[in-house]
Amino acid sequence: MEEKTVCPKCGSPLGAVETTKTGKQLQRCSAGKWNKETRSVDGCDYVKWLVVEPETLEEKCPKCGSALLLVTTRFGRKMKRCSTNKWDPATKTSSGCDYFAWLKATVEPLEKEACPKCGAPLVLMTTAGGKRLKKCSTNTWDRQTRTAVGCDFVQWL
Ligand SMILES: [Zn+2]
Ligand SMILES: [Zn+2]
Ligand SMILES: [Zn+2]
Repeated sequence: MEEKTVCPKCGSPLGAVETTKTGKQLQRCSAGKWNKETRSVDGCDYVKWLVVEPETLEEKCPKCGSALLLVTTRFGRKMKRCSTNKWDPATKTSSGCDYFAWLKATVEPLEKEACPKCGAPLVLMTTAGGKRLKKCSTNTWDRQTRTAVGCDFVQWL
């Protein structure tokens, strides 16, 4: 599929495809420039959002056995959803199988690696967004004070 690379507002060429922190893709008009002082766009503010196609997974739906899709929401969270599920904008209802599951963060112990700060074992964590990091196993979240306690060693992979 050939993408149109000219701004529909002003006719200037569009810039290169950029990927946001949440995994969305966009192209900005080259006649516009982000102004840090006014926190707005000088010139043409056209932005073209590219649709990221959902990825089909090898995994099968536990409810109906159809293929599962990996979908990224507007907020960058990932979920698995049954491929037979369809949203009907006319009736505002979904049809097909309603199975979905959020991807959760996972933590695996890294037995052979010690924290360079305190010597405790490290853990390998995969966030719900699919990012991987190593962190110190003594680091935990204190719900009462809403702060992280323990050693603060973190290494993003
Ligand atoms: Zn433009
Ligand atoms: Zn299903
Ligand atoms: Zn540590």
